[in-house]
Parts: sequence; C-alpha cells; structure tokens
Amino acid sequence: MPKYWCTNYPNVREGLEQGDHSRDVMFAQLSREIIACRRCTRLRKYAKTVVKDMPARFTDGNFWGKPVPGFGDLNGRLLIIGLAPARTGALRTGRIFTGDLSSAFLVAALHSAGFANQARSESVDDGLVYRDCYVTAAVKCAPPADKPEPAEFANCSSYLDREVVLMVNLRSVLALGSSACRAYLTHLSRKGVRTRGLRFAHGSTYPFPGMPTLYTSYHPSPRNTNTGKLTPVMLDAVLARIKHDFSM
Ligand code: SF4
Repeated sequence: MPKYWCTNYPNVREGLEQGDHSRDVMFAQLSREIIACRRCTRLRKYAKTVVKDMPARFTDGNFWGKPVPGFGDLNGRLLIIGLAPARTGALRTGRIFTGDLSSAFLVAALHSAGFANQARSESVDDGLVYRDCYVTAAVKCAPPADKPEPAEFANCSSYLDREVVLMVNLRSVLALGSSACRAYLTHLSRKGVRTRGLRFAHGSTYPFPGMPTLYTSYHPSPRNTNTGKLTPVMLDAVLARIKHDFSM
C-alpha cells in the first residue's frame, strides 16, 4: 500500500516514523490544541450565543460549544472533509457529523459502503466506529449561516495540514461541497501542487501524481438533500467509486 509522507513537516515526519504510538500521541496533542483554539474571535463568540438559541428538543443540558476535532480511523485510506461543525450537530454534540440531519445522511451512506459500523451518528457515546476512513472539517468551529470567512479558513488550515500528515495510508480524499474542496486544493497548493483551474463539480475525480486522489460530492446538508440536489444514490455512487479505486 503506498504511503504519502508530507515532507513539508519534518518534525511530524520524524515522529511518525517512530510508529503508531507517536502518531496517537500527536493526534491527541492536535485534538487538544484544536479544542483549546481561540484564533477566530468571531466563531468563538458565535458558539457562546448559539447555546441560548438552541431549539427546545436539544436543550438537554449537554452542549459542547468548543472547536471540534476530526474523528475516525487515522490508519484509513479515506479522508472526508466537510465544511464546519453544524450548529445543532457537532457544535452541540462535540463530534464531527454527529446529531443532525447532515450526519444522518452521511453516516447512513458510509455504513452502506462499509466505512462505518452503524448507520446512525447521534452522540459521542453511540458506538459509531469508522473503518478505513477519518472525517473532519475544513473549519473546526461552527460559523454563523454556515459561512466561514476566508481568514477563518486560513486560520484553521494548519490543523487540516497536520491531520493529512497523520494519515500515513491516505489514498483518497472526499471533499463534501465546494468550500471543503477549495480548502483541500489550498492545502495542496501549500505543498507545491499545481491546482490552478480545478473547479468543484459533484462526482468529479481529480488524480494528482504521487498524491491521494480527490473526489467530490455535494455537501449532505438538508438544503441539498431535501431538494434532491444530493440523493442517497448519488453519494453511494461516489463512495462506490472510491472503493473500486482502492482495489486498483
Ligand atoms: S475555526 Fe479553527 S482556527 Fe478558528 S478558532 Fe476554531 S479551531 Fe481555531
């Protein structure tokens, strides 16, 4: 199985070469840094206001309210990148793609494709385990109106860089929506990869020599799934193509 090392981060690479234990330690450190991060004043303030406006069905006293690290199998071959934690989803529950309609749609598809042990993602203690796949967001804090500002993407970009480095078996990246796709292409640009002219379109495949292949899907937001812009069949087809390409 090919390994994609990131030579832009020599200290990280040195740690990875010491084995899985170092990688676990580095992931734990990364998660701690993300949870404690305060780089984006607007987003940190927004998290405090959201809890007051939470719909009654979600006011059970549990509210995460902090930045949300990625979750899943760091040894996996697939990295899935969403936009940002959802207000009533990951920002509330503390796990990415957990507790809202987008999560339900995505995780049902991941379960069908064999990337998840169950079809539901409702809370941090629901038993969900991802297999061969790790899920994160381009921006680790929930933004007002689901729209992070360019500076907030930039502030959070180093965390995505470090997540990619930790995925030593990475072969495929699935970007959910145009913003996640742009965030990953920007990540590639930082590594010196030419990405000019690449445009987001649902169901596209972008091979990069010596690098993981990028796949794209519309984001599984209710705005897209309720209107039929993204259907289960469409997302299943993207995941099936990724699985097929694993076997090549
Ligand atoms: S969006 Fe990222 S960089 Fe900004 S405060 Fe949250 S974790 Fe930090």
